[in-house]
Amino acid sequence: MYIADSSEVKETAETTKRHAVIVGGGIAGLATAICLSLKNWRVSIYEQSPAFEEIGAGVQISPNGSRILERIGVLERIADSCFEPIALEMRHGRSNRRLLYLPMGDQAIKRWQGQYLQVYRPDLIRALLDVLESTEDVAIHNGVRVSHYGHDASGATVMLDKDEQVDADLLVAADGVHSTIRQQMTGDDKARFTGNVAWRALVPVEQLRNPPPLSACVWTGEGKHAVTTRVRGGEWVNFVGIVEQDDWHVEGWREKGSSSEALQDFGNWNDSITDIIQVSGDLYRWALLDRPPLPKWSDKAAVLIGDAAHAMLPSMAQGAVQCIEDAWVLADCHQRNPDAISANQDFYRQRIERTRRIQKQSADNLRLFHKRGFLSQVACYAPIWLAGKLLPGAVYRRNDWVYGQGPL
Ligand SMILES: Cc1cc2nc3c(=O)[nH]c(=O)nc-3n(C[C@H](O)[C@H](O)[C@H](O)COP(=O)(O)OP(=O)(O)OC[C@H]3O[C@@H](n4cnc5c(N)ncnc54)[C@H](O)[C@@H]3O)c2cc1C
Repeated sequence: MYIADSSEVKETAETTKRHAVIVGGGIAGLATAICLSLKNWRVSIYEQSPAFEEIGAGVQISPNGSRILERIGVLERIADSCFEPIALEMRHGRSNRRLLYLPMGDQAIKRWQGQYLQVYRPDLIRALLDVLESTEDVAIHNGVRVSHYGHDASGATVMLDKDEQVDADLLVAADGVHSTIRQQMTGDDKARFTGNVAWRALVPVEQLRNPPPLSACVWTGEGKHAVTTRVRGGEWVNFVGIVEQDDWHVEGWREKGSSSEALQDFGNWNDSITDIIQVSGDLYRWALLDRPPLPKWSDKAAVLIGDAAHAMLPSMAQGAVQCIEDAWVLADCHQRNPDAISANQDFYRQRIERTRRIQKQSADNLRLFHKRGFLSQVACYAPIWLAGKLLPGAVYRRNDWVYGQGPL
């Protein structure tokens, strides 16, 4: 890999390899670059940010993602910094009462042939970049924004903000939930505000008097829920609190909020949660957006992936994992089929039902976690509690389609 000077946008490498241009250097873009280069493509990534300053937050990688990360050489590079939760757990946010406990660790490997992991997002991005660094024919152009695309006889033409043009056999739009390429491809469709705003915080575990469990724990509440995980070998607790709210006008991930504001939402919850909020110096919040499934993800040689194609609520922790699945499948489709247009259509056919189902299940989970009223909570959570106690096999089985299936 070489990191190109941002002023140097002309492709120089003369090679017979097919050339893919990737718009966006998030998890989807970087994972796709690795998968395509493993299939002998020459890859150019255009990322509008001048540097990879990643959002300091945790990401859960379920077995359907970790199996792919292992195959593409990324897993070994996060092995020291990630954390393997002992269970998936559900608790009642105010009372701390346990509603479900599903052991993970060896169980995940035995049942789904992959680890269930929690990783610090910048560590994952670093690991993806490290793999690309040892890869030939991958160029990363930071500080270059792609404005639009066109077509020519041999593929796509990609226009950069500086009025320069790059030719590609394949254009991969991994430009996130506000995708410019998607807008051009499908019309002016804005991502949809889901009526939920998220808080996030990252706290050293040693500063907490009541650290949350060593599981990936969902805490339920009325019109809100929270998730606690560990990252950096378990030394940091990652907190995400999601609260229903009528509107939100700030875009992006870096809007700061105060502990006292977060305590207005979670102040009457159990000590594990209030401790995190009180100790946390920096809390950030952002709006949760999604979009209805699209009727197509491609326009000739241009194709959407990741959040650009199927942004989803985080309540299944599958957004990044689906980016990784997309990357694997897209590269596979293009290896099997040298015609970029029909390979992109194959990709859509292979991915749409799975991502649509995950989008729906994520929205259903959010409603389940936010149940209001004692009776409605009992009606929902008592069967979950009972199933966890009496039929744990059935609860594992309910996750087979997500964690056990997938492209690998
Ligand atoms: C609260 C929360 C918790 C989450 N937790 C999890 C989890 O535990 N597990 C999980 O799997 N997923 C999780 N997700 C989802 C996951 O973070 C996203 O689905 C994933 O990061 C999307 O990656 P992406 O590469 O598609 O988009 P992005 O990460 O948004 O990357 C897009 C990139 O494209 C660049 N870009 C945009 N436009 C242009 C342009 N015109 N030209 C050049 N560059 C451009 C941007 O700068 C950006 O770097 C969570 C999400 C949220 C909101």
